[in-house]
This record gives sequence, C-alpha cells and structure tokens, in this order.
Amino acid sequence: MNKTLVWLALSAAALTGCKTAPPQNPAAANPATLPGYTDTPMLPGGKWHVHDPNRPQPVVVTPGTFSSQKEPGIPPSDAIVLFNGQDLSAWRDDNGNAPKWEVKHGVMTVGKGQITTRQEFGDIQLHVEWSEPYMPTNTSQARGNSGVFLMGRFEIQVLDCFQNVTYPDGATGAMYGQRPPLVNACRQPGEWQTYDIVFTAPRFDGNELKKPAHVTVFQNGVLIQNHEAFLGPTGHRQLAKYTPMPSTGPISLQDHHDPVRYRNIWVRPLKFDDQP
Ligand code: MG
Repeated sequence: MNKTLVWLALSAAALTGCKTAPPQNPAAANPATLPGYTDTPMLPGGKWHVHDPNRPQPVVVTPGTFSSQKEPGIPPSDAIVLFNGQDLSAWRDDNGNAPKWEVKHGVMTVGKGQITTRQEFGDIQLHVEWSEPYMPTNTSQARGNSGVFLMGRFEIQVLDCFQNVTYPDGATGAMYGQRPPLVNACRQPGEWQTYDIVFTAPRFDGNELKKPAHVTVFQNGVLIQNHEAFLGPTGHRQLAKYTPMPSTGPISLQDHHDPVRYRNIWVRPLKFDDQP
C-alpha cells in the first residue's frame, strides 16, 4: 500500500470512528516474545519483576453501557445479572419463596418483606439503580426508605434526601448508623439514581477479626464513601460490633414500607489475594 492509500485508509477510519477492530498484537501468540523485562528490580513480595512479561494478563471484559433516565444500560460481559427487568428469579423472600414484589414495565417495586439474592457473595462490585417515590408530606427516615444490605448485614442506606433532612449517618448513601456520605448527591424523586459499590468482606482468623468490611460507593457517579471500614453489621440505635461470620453472604433489598423502585441490578464477584 503506498503512502496515499495508507493516509486515505487512516482518514476514513478516523471519520467512521474506526469501525475495523485493530489486529491482535502478534507477541501474544508466543510467550517467548511477550513484551517486558526480567532484568529489572523485583517488586515487593518477590514474585514479579518491574514490567515482568510473565505476569498473568488481565482477563478481557467487554464493558457495558451507562444508563439514561429513559432506559437502563447494559452490564459488563462478566457480570451476574440479579435483575434485568424481567423477573425476580435471582431473589427469595425470608422463607425461601418467590418474593411478592411487583415487577412491571422492567421495574420492581418494594413490596411486602425484604428480598434476598439466592446466591451469596464475598468481595464484589455491585451496580444498583433505584427511583424514589414522591412522598412530600413524609420527612426524615419516612421518605422513601429502603436499603442495600451487603452480605445481608451491612446497609448502604436508600432514602429520598432531596430536600429532606435526617440524621446524617442515616442519609442516602450512609453506612447506616456509622458514617454519613461525603456529600448529598441525590436526584429528585421519580428520577433514576445509581449506586456503584465496591465491597470487601471482613476477614477472620478463626473467631478473631483480621480486617473489617470496607466499602466504596459512588452515587450517580459522585464518590460518597471512600474505602471506609464498617464497625460491624449495621443496626438502628445501636453501636455495631463484629462477631464471627461466614466469608460470603447474600445481598438484600430492604422493605421499609415505602414504594421505592429498582431496576438494572448486577454484580461482579472480585478476586483478591487475601481471600479466605
Ligand atoms: Mg433503610
């Protein structure tokens, strides 16, 4: 291909948004030619050199799309979808039966009793979307209260705090009863809101707590909890403390008697070196 043809091809690709996928780097086919260095200093831990070519490559995940007010986005390719607008098959009630929450027009609405995932998780990335009911005559904790319970024990508060004051450690995005959100990033009732949560389960050595549970939360893309430690399972009017617990637990959505709506819920179990 002469220079003019190359230039034309590149220009066309730029104009069309590069529709043709670039070829695989040929080095990937032969471990002996993987890019990197083995004559560099060792990183802490003594396992890998700086720029070590033999370190496992990151697993390829196809990203999803962001949601709009009109419609939910698409989860990333390796996500476990907990609710896609169709049914509650991933969930149970407290008796292990199908939940009574209504599913309509791609949305579930809080009904009688909390709902809990049938599957259990430890460390996760969790995406949840919810929309608050319009309850202008209710105040504080009575305005659109629900909650996302991680491992069934650690509540990230769901509440309508758009022009609604409550105790700060019970506000939207609070680690309930423990830590207020960094800011109030609430949208108005009726609008769709998102939580993107990174949760690491507590580590125990026998009955001894080695590391508390931690959480990072973005609400509507705004950081509201930054790798904060839970003092223990959350509760109302009580000081939390840890007792030994399993390394995994389910995710629950709270029924606090308010018709909060949910859609597009997915989870990605995470793998870390210090997992039990
Ligand atoms: Mg709640």
